[in-house]
Amino acid sequence: MKIQVSVPLKDQGETLFAGHVGAALAIGRIERRVNVGLFVTAALLLDFVLWLFILFGWESVNITEDFSTTHQPHFVFPSSHGLLAAGGWSAAAGVLTLLLSPYLKEARRRAAALVAGAVFSHWLLDVLVHRSELPLTGNTSVTVGLALWNDMPAALAIEAAIVALGLCLFLPKSGLARGKSIALGILILIVLMSTIIGMTIAPPPSSAAAMAGSSLVALVAVCGLIAWLGRVSREERFSTSLSEDRHD
Ligand SMILES: [Zn+2]
Repeated sequence: MKIQVSVPLKDQGETLFAGHVGAALAIGRIERRVNVGLFVTAALLLDFVLWLFILFGWESVNITEDFSTTHQPHFVFPSSHGLLAAGGWSAAAGVLTLLLSPYLKEARRRAAALVAGAVFSHWLLDVLVHRSELPLTGNTSVTVGLALWNDMPAALAIEAAIVALGLCLFLPKSGLARGKSIALGILILIVLMSTIIGMTIAPPPSSAAAMAGSSLVALVAVCGLIAWLGRVSREERFSTSLSEDRHD
């Protein structure tokens, strides 16, 4: 399938980037034995798939006439963002987590279920903001989308609220040392700011391929940094369990 681009695209592209990270942080609160970077990666998985598929020419993005005012490109993305596909990617991610995490012992099933939930949370949040363009199954199926991005200030306020909630839920219980908690908080606020800039004033990129490439680089960088900062060292784990023992 050929990538259709009629006018230049914005680098940031389709994304409720920070909102997905906020949802992953809330999930991270539930299972602290798993690096929160895994939940963040899971919550962004459908976008990893989307941009890769756009580079491969298997899904497409094009720009509508009203792009300069709406900042919303139009996607044809049944394999990454269809309801059926999202269910499949969620199940696959859950099974993979189950298979690859024997070190989690009894927490394995819970971690797998939470990873699957994080992947699917992406679709639910995207349904909230996208115009009716998320298919239930294939290309020709019924599409859904509540179009919150048509009211961009409200959409960005809700996104900021999800991020704030995620940070408030996750950081106090993360078990991370203070310095790492602060660094993680700052990183996520930078992600939120870049999302807001991307959805409002960012200049257009040169092509769909550039849009996909820069989005993938951003996804890898953010997931990698969060995973790096989210590692709970043995000392941190020990001091957290000690303080919990004292309080319980
Ligand atoms: Zn998405």
